[in-house]
Amino acid sequence: MGRTMRPPPSFTRPLALALAVSAGWLLVVAVIATAAGDLEGIAVLAAVGAAMAAACGVATWRSARRVELWLGEQLHGTARALDRSQQAFRQAITRLAETLSATHDREKILEAVSETAQLGVGAQRGIFFEYVPGRKALVARSGVGPEAPELSLPLGTGLAGKAAADKASVVYPGAGSPGAPVFPEPEVATAMAVPFTSRGQFLGVVAVYGHTTGGSFGQDDLETLTALVAQAGTAVDNVSLHEEAQRLSITDGLTGLWNRRQLDLRCQEELERAVRFGRPVGVVFCDVDLFKDVNTEWQHLGGDAVLVEVANRLSAATREIDVVARYGGEEFVLLLPETDLVGSRTLAEKVRTAMCDEPVEHNGKTRTVTLSLGVAAYPHSGTSVRTLLAAAQEALKRAKENGRNRIEEAKPMMRSTG
Ligand code: GH3
Ligand code: MG
Ligand code: MG
Repeated sequence: MGRTMRPPPSFTRPLALALAVSAGWLLVVAVIATAAGDLEGIAVLAAVGAAMAAACGVATWRSARRVELWLGEQLHGTARALDRSQQAFRQAITRLAETLSATHDREKILEAVSETAQLGVGAQRGIFFEYVPGRKALVARSGVGPEAPELSLPLGTGLAGKAAADKASVVYPGAGSPGAPVFPEPEVATAMAVPFTSRGQFLGVVAVYGHTTGGSFGQDDLETLTALVAQAGTAVDNVSLHEEAQRLSITDGLTGLWNRRQLDLRCQEELERAVRFGRPVGVVFCDVDLFKDVNTEWQHLGGDAVLVEVANRLSAATREIDVVARYGGEEFVLLLPETDLVGSRTLAEKVRTAMCDEPVEHNGKTRTVTLSLGVAAYPHSGTSVRTLLAAAQEALKRAKENGRNRIEEAKPMMRSTG
């Protein structure tokens, strides 16, 4: 809200009074002097007149002084307010820059941008409305306060709704008279809304409501808001790219399981934990039996569909804390924290039956797909990631040799007898 100003002290009233009194008195003196010709009396009257004029002059001077002080006070107040708003704007820009460079958190960026937008253009409120395509509506996300329920605005309704429907910025009041703000937008005399996009995709609207000075938003304010929103859009682009790169570097594109690189990292972590706390860790190496035949009969795409189905059944058979990874080709590895050799074998059996008990379907055809599995565990079969995986692989080789669709356990680790 604008600051309340004291009315300026009146300077003209005492001045007009002084002039009127002096002029009146001179008139009286002149009339008396003409009528009576009494010079002594005239001198007294003139002296009294001069004294009265002087008193009026002093009163006028004091009023002028009060006006001067009042003006100084107002100027000082305005300068202080300007300084405060500049300081707030600088703080907001700093906070936005810090947030944009430090975070890969979409929510935080959007929170910072609505806050900065508010301070940057001197608005009373700044709100980020997220576009929810399924509801064809905007939902207020930041700037509404944690106590607010989910506040939504249908597309085309209110100022932000209009910006969303047209994918264009709007200023209220302004040319083409776009709609006034409506609830959940604050009801104010002036407002602006700018669409928010990231990688060409419309994500929502940043809107600011009410000018702190009581005036209206202008072209300069719209440019400031547009620039801030564009900056935040770039930051959100970076977040999306970062997430995508992250996902691609740790997961397998076909099955969505962890890839081998991630498996190596997780194996290392789990083993270190197991060694430190003296806990077991299981490893199960799985290989699809006669997978070349699947590729031959169902073509490569059919083979891919089988790999996706194997991945789904492995995931369904394991716990949240287990790591299910595609090791490569038609080979998968399960890493089982807190699981010894016996427990790992039990899980391997669950996985084996999950595959062979129910045929896999593809393009209207079905076939039974089986797995061979090799089981190893820390500390039974090895004490490093390399020796554990090698032990499980060796057991898998025996499972293949012994007829496929079966499980073999790793041999106990050879211990030095000194
Ligand atoms: P075994 O029971 O001895 O394991 O027989 P196999 O046919 O499964 O043996 P092998 O390991 O020789 O064959 C694996 C085949 O998997 C060969 C390769 O062309 C195929 N393959 C590897 N990666 C993929 C993939 O991503 N998709 C498809 N469709 N096939 C793949
Ligand atoms: Mg293989
Ligand atoms: Mg195979």
